Amino acid sequence: MLGRDVHAFLEEAGCCCRCTLIFLGTRTDDLYGDLSKIYEATEAAVTRLNDQSDEVQNSREDSSTSETTAGNKCSGDVNEKCLSNDEFITEKSGANENSTKKQKFAVCIACIGVLQWGCSEEAIKRLSEAIKDGGHDADGFSLSLSLPASISLRTHRLWTLLLQAHPKFPVKGREDHIGTVKDVWKNVVGPQLGAATGKTFIHGTYHDFVLNVTCTYVNDLEDCKIMNELCQTMFATRQKQHKKYANSVYSKQAIDAAFKKLTDSEVLRVCPSPPSTPNEPVTFASLQCQQAAMYMAGRYNKYSRDLPQTPWFVEGERKLGSSVQELICDILNHTVCAEDLKFSSSGREDVDVRCLGNGRPFVVEFINPQRTKLSRDKISSLQQTINNSTKLIRVRDLQIVEKKDLKNLKEGEEEKTKAYCALCIAAKGYDNSALEALSKMPQLVLQQKTPLRVLHRRPLATRSRTILSMKAHPVDQHFFKAGLHLTTQAGTYIKEFVHSDLGRTVPNLGEIMGCEVDIIALDVENVALDWPPKCGD
Ligand SMILES: [Zn+2]
Repeated sequence: MLGRDVHAFLEEAGCCCRCTLIFLGTRTDDLYGDLSKIYEATEAAVTRLNDQSDEVQNSREDSSTSETTAGNKCSGDVNEKCLSNDEFITEKSGANENSTKKQKFAVCIACIGVLQWGCSEEAIKRLSEAIKDGGHDADGFSLSLSLPASISLRTHRLWTLLLQAHPKFPVKGREDHIGTVKDVWKNVVGPQLGAATGKTFIHGTYHDFVLNVTCTYVNDLEDCKIMNELCQTMFATRQKQHKKYANSVYSKQAIDAAFKKLTDSEVLRVCPSPPSTPNEPVTFASLQCQQAAMYMAGRYNKYSRDLPQTPWFVEGERKLGSSVQELICDILNHTVCAEDLKFSSSGREDVDVRCLGNGRPFVVEFINPQRTKLSRDKISSLQQTINNSTKLIRVRDLQIVEKKDLKNLKEGEEEKTKAYCALCIAAKGYDNSALEALSKMPQLVLQQKTPLRVLHRRPLATRSRTILSMKAHPVDQHFFKAGLHLTTQAGTYIKEFVHSDLGRTVPNLGEIMGCEVDIIALDVENVALDWPPKCGD
């Protein structure tokens, strides 16, 4: 009677009723929820295995009799084992534990209580509090479970013993045993958490909002030391390189890999009996809510010549009080409440360069945001709040965008043209006809050596840059404005084109006009990128 024998083997070894059902090969997760279903499913699995072995052995035994016997046998056992699930902690912490109770409510030797205490009322309470405390506004959630390596080790040991005792037992459940333990746990705990938190539990691939649960077992390391005996060379090497492996000398992956190489007889020589009964179950070492990143895009104008785009530090010391990034993000994150954020834009301008026209496209990535449901009105009012808070910048077209849209920002950086306006001075005066000539010039290819002012952070190289067109207007006899239209090609240095950077940019404006020219001020007039879409605000 294969089913009955295997069931007895697992029970005697000290498996909980859920682990027993997993070993018996039942993969229908919703059978694991309540005890009566576990009982029925176990009975069915035992019967199924009995029948299979009967067929194999072509036994003449009266199958109806044997089924009844097996059913009766397992029903009593299952009830007793399953009772321990909900009363587990109460009984364990009871003042006058007697030895019978200790045995009855023993921690499962396979899952170390993940499917016992881990599914208890106390556990559900802690998990639902973690979700509530996170304060996230997601409607649904999924669960991610990380287990101590010892559970993998114990499972491998049990499978080896089981197959040695019952060579005909189907081995197919072994491969994804741990995956099944996780799935079962999620399906037992998930719906109850859903009821407690008002969010919908979603099983399977759903990454918008996840509760990451990390279980640890106090004797995990002690348990795993047996790997040194089982697979000496591999773990001795990992021990020596403990810095590389940090605290994971005995990882699940390493243990799985070791067991793939080990023969059954090697395992049985070191581990001839089932793993010891744990003194206490696993605990939740960390419960962490993770909301998928949210992205907001928009355009900004910068009207100040003393404002860096991002917080500016020179040798660790903060320069200037604020930045475009902070003026935008501080207000947004007051509402979104993200753990961290990243600001990026299509190119950037220097501290002393204004950005006019329609502004420069930017994206803010909110990492683990609490609030992701923002109406169009709410976003408009956030934009208004930013614009009312400062005269240094202005934001428009603020909107929530998808991650897949972000490529527009970086593609635009390479391909799109930009328009600049430079206020220039020719100290010794200039010739009006030279200005007119500028406007008639065909496109101009520059050879630009890395400017002196950025040499400390950029490699020295000579790059070709193209100016598509220029248009110059006189201001007075010394000053004139030069409008430049060019492809940005990841950074053309306009200032250097005007003042020549000690001859490192050729040709340069002074050379073309035949006089000495310097730059007073620079504005970005237009960043030609049709993204993000206009909001009409
Ligand atoms: Zn178990």
